Amino acid sequence: MNQEEKCKGQTLRVHRAKWVVPVSSAPIPDGAVATFGGRIVEVGAAGELSLRFHGPCVDHGDSILCPGLVNAHSHLELSPLKYRLHPTGSFTDWIRALLEGRNRIEPQELDQAVKQAMDEMDSGGIVAIGDVGNTDLVPEIASKNEQLPIQGIFFYEIICQKPDPKEMVNDWLSFTERASRSFNFAVSAHAPYTVSPEAIKVIKSVSRLRKRPFSVHVSESIDETELLTQKNGPLKKLLEERGHWPLPYDLPGISSISYLSSLNVLDSDTICVHCIHLNNEDMEAMAASQATACLCPRSNIFLGVGIPPAERLFAMGIPIAIGTDSLASNDRLSIFAEMASLVSMAPGLKPEAVFRAATHGGARALGVQGDFGTLSRGKAAEFIAVNASGVKDNEIYDFLVSGCGGLDLDCCWIKDDQ
Ligand SMILES: [Zn+2]
Repeated sequence: MNQEEKCKGQTLRVHRAKWVVPVSSAPIPDGAVATFGGRIVEVGAAGELSLRFHGPCVDHGDSILCPGLVNAHSHLELSPLKYRLHPTGSFTDWIRALLEGRNRIEPQELDQAVKQAMDEMDSGGIVAIGDVGNTDLVPEIASKNEQLPIQGIFFYEIICQKPDPKEMVNDWLSFTERASRSFNFAVSAHAPYTVSPEAIKVIKSVSRLRKRPFSVHVSESIDETELLTQKNGPLKKLLEERGHWPLPYDLPGISSISYLSSLNVLDSDTICVHCIHLNNEDMEAMAASQATACLCPRSNIFLGVGIPPAERLFAMGIPIAIGTDSLASNDRLSIFAEMASLVSMAPGLKPEAVFRAATHGGARALGVQGDFGTLSRGKAAEFIAVNASGVKDNEIYDFLVSGCGGLDLDCCWIKDDQ
């Protein structure tokens, strides 16, 4: 880098801090990140980088420089439901309350609640999201506001019990052609019990064709397992109430993961959200397919649906991402809080593995790892500085994952767009 390149309107900067946590390699004490033209050009020891790169040095003091966090599963359009739904311990009852609650959302509340939720994620150090919605609300907000603080993938969530969904395919394809500065658009299947097997296969085919991730809620409740394996239980009653029973196709009589595996929709671009009620075979299928398990621990605790077998999922080499789910089943949209909950429910987890899931794991799952997820050459010059005064060298990951007992850490953004 030289002054000539600076003259083209782009500035080389060196960001120095007490620690740099690249995620792709070990933490660097007294580290630095050099940026130029909106990209990271080097990561290393501050002394070495200041000799190699001659540009303004920004000293972040006792901070940790690390990648922005990725919220791999949210539902921004449900944000007005914050504090309006109360868990009863029954997943199906919560779905009933959610369906009623959605109908009571006033149109004028939506915009403000969604923007507030986006701001909450931005101030909590979240750089990218995988947001799921059943309406055009979030895409419309995204197209009207070019400079949204959050970017990522917007999944149009499909609920379709039609045994033959041919007439829907063009709609689903055209949805994935939409574009905004903030989001790429994708399609997702709500759950194995609300989407017919043919529709699940078609949604996955559209995702493969468009090279988009495919997301589906999986094994979230015992009610789901009971419906799929025994064709009975509270969800059957709900489907009856809503006039969807009998279903126009056969339920599989096997677990959700076995079912999705039999439909050939599990691969490294599939995000299985929740993954609580898994048997050994399910976990083996996930490990073999390298489908991502997206864990949303605080939503699971709120709903009382159980907790995911996190230690086994990590140990088996299943790719892990972390999500908040929506404000209808969570009081916060904080990946710092999700990490703290995850390590408190699974104390055997290594904090560095949890932090990797919250950064690289989410970026990989959403297909945005070219820009985010690690601090390394070529990634976007968009990362966070977390205030870590008083933190000891051997406690960096513990601090990042559970340092404030689930409260957000004090972090600020570094966004060098030139
Ligand atoms: Zn969800």
